[in-house]
Amino acid sequence: MTPEQSDEGVASKPPFIGRKAQMFPQLTPAQSARLEALGAHRRTSKGEILAQPGDRHRPMLVVLSGSIEVVQSGMEGEVLIVVHTAGSFTGEMSLLQGIGSLVRMRVRDSGEVLVIGEDRLRTVIQTDAELSELFMRAFILRRVGLLASQAGDVILLGSSRSAGTLRLQQFLTRNSFPFVNLDVHTDQSVQALLERFHIQADEVPVVLCRGEVVLRNPSNEEVAACLGMNQQIDDDRIRDVIVVGAGPAGLAAAVYAASEGLDVLVLETGTPGGQAGSSSKIENYLGFPTGISGLALAARARVQAQKFGAEIRTAYSALKLNCHERPYAVELCHGNAVRARTIIIATGAEYRQLAIEQASRFLGTGIYYAATATEVRRCEMKEVIVVGGGNSAGQAAVYLAGKCSHVHLLVRSKGLADSMSRYLIRRIDETANITLHANTEIASLEGDGQLERVVWRTSPGNALETHAIGHVFLMTGAVPSTFWLKDCIALNDKGFVRTGLDLTQADLPAANGSAARLPQPFETNWPGIFAVGDVRCGSVKRVAAAVGEGSACVQQVHQALRD
Ligand SMILES: Cc1cc2nc3c(=O)[nH]c(=O)nc-3n(C[C@H](O)[C@H](O)[C@H](O)COP(=O)(O)OP(=O)(O)OC[C@H]3O[C@@H](n4cnc5c(N)ncnc54)[C@H](O)[C@@H]3O)c2cc1C
Repeated sequence: MTPEQSDEGVASKPPFIGRKAQMFPQLTPAQSARLEALGAHRRTSKGEILAQPGDRHRPMLVVLSGSIEVVQSGMEGEVLIVVHTAGSFTGEMSLLQGIGSLVRMRVRDSGEVLVIGEDRLRTVIQTDAELSELFMRAFILRRVGLLASQAGDVILLGSSRSAGTLRLQQFLTRNSFPFVNLDVHTDQSVQALLERFHIQADEVPVVLCRGEVVLRNPSNEEVAACLGMNQQIDDDRIRDVIVVGAGPAGLAAAVYAASEGLDVLVLETGTPGGQAGSSSKIENYLGFPTGISGLALAARARVQAQKFGAEIRTAYSALKLNCHERPYAVELCHGNAVRARTIIIATGAEYRQLAIEQASRFLGTGIYYAATATEVRRCEMKEVIVVGGGNSAGQAAVYLAGKCSHVHLLVRSKGLADSMSRYLIRRIDETANITLHANTEIASLEGDGQLERVVWRTSPGNALETHAIGHVFLMTGAVPSTFWLKDCIALNDKGFVRTGLDLTQADLPAANGSAARLPQPFETNWPGIFAVGDVRCGSVKRVAAAVGEGSACVQQVHQALRD
């Protein structure tokens, strides 16, 4: 037994000891017997490496005899996570996601394992309810443990004053990817790393990928590629359905379509979760009486979709939809295209930018479009401004009031009654450190690199006030993400996708000529191309509505596939 290992073979420090029984369960003889038929026996020898960080397409191993140690490698060497002995099994979420391993596995004592390949594992998870629950819970908790350990060989060297750092923190966090976050201004250990990798302090953000590759101010796509976040997929394959956008609507569509046996590919520009992923707490989604953060909801939905076999590619933007060829083709930011018999458009909406010149200059260094733990780290115990009168602004104000010294809520209208839910208005009224400023809007932003001062204007009279506040959260609604559909899909005057009964006669004949039926409720002017969630004209802009549309649409996809 090593000093860091408990007598039960698990790292003796949190986070891996908390829910040990569920994280590292022992299979019963009956469960092992069911797996026996699906795997192949293999001998293992002491010291043999069974997986390295970044390795893809690993099987799950059930230990029959001997033992396997699982370690997380970092700059300081290896940290033991667990020693699997007879009856235990290897793996965590990356196994089902088809992405690179996050850990190293080495044989500690020679013995024998049962090797269960990726496809067989997925079959067990989809067909054996008892083992499915056991494996899924263990895989999820193991990933949660890796995230909480804040260790590993992926290091983000950044600065709380840099917009690029915030972008990368959001990207890695929302992808549930474990990383070590170091700030060049506050962390003592940074200097040694800068010297070792020949990095200048002003080059941050820098991602040290697997302790070897140095990425200077990388794009999300570069980080995803270096860390093997996406599956290697055959782009020549023609899918049943491509879902574009992994917000609540797209994820719901992916879960239902994959669970009903369709071959599903999901493309996502940023990270799964969409607008909901930027909400600190969603309180009106059915089944979560104490609320759930958008990030947690998205992470669960993503795992659920992957459990059923949906392939999700993050940092993959759809640039153009080609409706004129069959199967339909989606052109990607990477220069290639993917094809499918049907398409579900679930690209939702993007935040409306502040219509003043300096707003983009301070993006990430004082201007934020989300209020989650990642952004709040930058303004804890400070005074902040929230702009907007809708529910998203109300939620942000209440959440920030618990973390910041004071919240100024700025609305252009005379009050909140017409735009915000009653429960939020009441909470705002009852929170002492929130001040509502009605008839008020931001006039200008000032600062050198970092936002330092905000000037706001109040009507009538247009009185200007300057406040030394360096953090502004913009929650002022959204515009549809439909630029990639131009010249193809019928949109309304505000850019939302028209479907079903919203389509006019003029939309149909040219595009729909080949369909022998009228468009279904979520179908666009092209047969087999659907739109769901916030991107759809007339939809209710809520999580539950988006989830409902995404799941209901799958029945119509089946109909289109039958045509
Ligand atoms: C801060 C905030 C708080 C909110 N709180 C609540 C709440 O408490 N309750 C509630 O019911 N609703 C809430 N909402 C509204 C709710 O989040 C939305 O109605 C819901 O997320 C819409 O889901 P969607 O999947 O249709 O679109 P979105 O959530 O907008 O997701 C669309 C996805 O598509 C991706 N995408 C866009 N273009 C492309 C492209 N070209 N290629 C690939 N991917 C693309 C985007 O990156 C995004 O991930 C909130 C919204 C915000 C912003």
